[in-house]
Order: sequence, then C-alpha cells, then structure tokens
Amino acid sequence: MKIYLYGVREDEKGYIKEWEKEHKDIDIDFTHKIFDNKTADLAEGSDGVVLLQTQAYPKTALKKLQDFGISKISVRNVGLDGFDFKDLRDLGFSLTNVPVYSPNAIAEHTIGLTLRLLRRVPEFDQKFADGDFRWFPTIGEEINGKTVGIIGTGHIGSVVARIMMAMGANVVAYDIKPNPYLENLGIYVDSIEDVLKQSDIITLHTPLAKKDLHMIDKLAFSKMKDGVIFINAARGGLVDTDALIAALDSGKVGGAGLDVLESENDVFQKKFDTINDVKDPQFKALINRKNVIITPHTAFYTTTAVHNMVFDSLNDNLKMLQSKAPKYPVDINVE
Ligand code: NAD
Repeated sequence: MKIYLYGVREDEKGYIKEWEKEHKDIDIDFTHKIFDNKTADLAEGSDGVVLLQTQAYPKTALKKLQDFGISKISVRNVGLDGFDFKDLRDLGFSLTNVPVYSPNAIAEHTIGLTLRLLRRVPEFDQKFADGDFRWFPTIGEEINGKTVGIIGTGHIGSVVARIMMAMGANVVAYDIKPNPYLENLGIYVDSIEDVLKQSDIITLHTPLAKKDLHMIDKLAFSKMKDGVIFINAARGGLVDTDALIAALDSGKVGGAGLDVLESENDVFQKKFDTINDVKDPQFKALINRKNVIITPHTAFYTTTAVHNMVFDSLNDNLKMLQSKAPKYPVDINVE
C-alpha cells in the first residue's frame, strides 16, 4: 500500500519519517509541490493521497487520481474551502480532515499576545534596543482581576477561558451554542454586546461564517470600554480592519494582538526585502504602533500541532484504505 503526500513543508518531513517507521508495511512518498493538473501524475501507483494547500483542488487533477484508482483523500488541516464537494461526489472520493490538531497552540498564543500587550513588551524591546533599561514610565498591567470577554467557546475559546480563569480573570463569554462545562461555571452572558460592554480584554474565537463578516465593526468598537485590549487569532474577516485602525487612533482600543488579518494573503507567508516594501495599506496602518502586535497566522504553528496534522491525516488515510472508520470523516454530501 502506498500513500502520497503533496505540499510537504520541511518541518513536516521528520514527522512523516516517524510515521513511516511505525508503519513499515506502508510506502510513503511526498513532494513539496502543491496538488494541481501538473503534479497529479506524481500520485500514479499510490492508493491514497494526503494534501495541504490554500489553492483550490482542480476537478481535472482529481479526475487523474480517479483514473489511477485513488479514491481516498485526507487533508492535513481543517479547511475544506478548496474542494467542490460535488466534484468529490461525482468522482467517488472519500475525504478526511484534521479539525482539531492543538487548540492549546492557539489558546496559548492568545494568552501570549495578551501578556505582551499588558506588560508593554514591544515598548521594552524598543527601549532595550536604545540602551534604555529604566522601568519608568512603562508600567504594566495584570490579567488577574481583569474581565476577559471571549466570543466563541469551542475547541480554542474554551481553553482560553480555562487558562484565563486559572490566571485570576473574571471571564465573560458568548457563544451561539454554549459549552455545558463552561455553562456550569456561569461565564455566559446573553449577547456579544454584553461581552463588548463588560470586558477589559476581548478575544475572538468563532469561525468566519458569511453572516459574521465584520462581526466587530465601527458600532461594535464603540460599545467597548475605553482602552480595551483586543485580540484576534480566529479569522481576519471577523473584524472591519478600517474600524479597528480608527479605534486605535482614537484610543478606544488600547492595544491589539492580531494573528490574522483581512488582507493576510497579500503579506503572510511572503518574504519582503524590508517591512516598508509591504504595500498593503491596512498592514501599513497597523505596523509601527507600539500597542499593536502582529504575528503572521502562526498561532497554530507548534511542533505538537504539526505532528498531529501529519499523524492524524496519515492515520485516517490508512484507515480508509483498510476500510476502517476514520477518526475525522468529512460529510461531502452537504453543500
Ligand atoms: P470551534 O468550531 O471548535 O468553535 C467555534 C465556536 O464558535 C463554537 O462553539 C460556535 O458555537 C461558536 N460560534 C459560531 N458562530 C458564533 C457567533 N456568531 N457568535 C458566537 N459564537 C459563535 O472552532 P475552533 O477550532 O475553536 O476555532 C475557532 C477559530 O480559530 C476559527 O475561526 C478558526 O478558523 C480559528 N483558528 C485559527 C488558527 C490560527 O493559527 N490563528 C488555527 C486554528 C483555528
């Protein structure tokens, strides 16, 4: 039996080798190239494929897999936007993904962004670089005793809630489908508006459904406390970035930690000669502020998460090939 992986990054190779060692009877081969019409032929002779890319998966390339007798596809991430499920149904594929690879990775990053803003780390970094080792006036604040508002308490938001509570925060949360464990702790309020009004720190952890585009807009910012710390490690489109920039300008938002941006595809995962070569106007308006920290969608990027993305996708691909039930089947009969 042979499984072929596409879009393999350098940091995934060690985990692929590790999995291969544990499954000596399975042949593994991979390419760093993404899956498309030009590269589909590389999978000839394989039984299953494992994919990871932001680009769409073309039907013509999928048809080639079908011609090679391949019918099991696993993706190493959550996102399924690149597939047209009708194509998969027409061509008779089964699909798995990895919907949960390490909620702690994103939750810990969220806490890290919050702490760096509260303890004014960017300002201390600048002072340090300038040879200024004095404390005053760069005094910090604590999470302990603050009200932390969490919008979305699924896999990630619920971990953020537990860590924040352990640090002494008063957590208030809103979710369209409250988590029973957190409900018992009495953290839920009735609306997003309640979270916005009550919180000293607000962090977003919902998916980006069409209806939630710009969930946090000018009106939402106007309801927040003055000087609020605002964190988004969920999806860039949840926030109207121009409204955020205006709220930073006015001081309504006292600090922003952003792992995702509306225009991130034009900037993140790219290498520019200098930061000034980035042309995106929203990015330009956010950088060089001492109270804004941007990380390039790296909240998920830990060894644990990458290990789980590789292992869970390969395990599920093998399970499908062995006609066993995979851990994370995707229902391709929904649109
Ligand atoms: P999840 O599906 O486990 O949880 C999402 C929660 O949001 C659910 O409980 C749901 O009921 C709730 N929700 C949905 N719409 C809502 C709304 N309008 N108002 C309030 N609650 C709402 O998802 P997750 O795995 O916790 O992921 C959360 C977010 O983090 C997603 O946007 C995901 O894409 C993002 N994410 C980011 C990274 C990163 O590296 N920055 C990595 C993984 C996931």
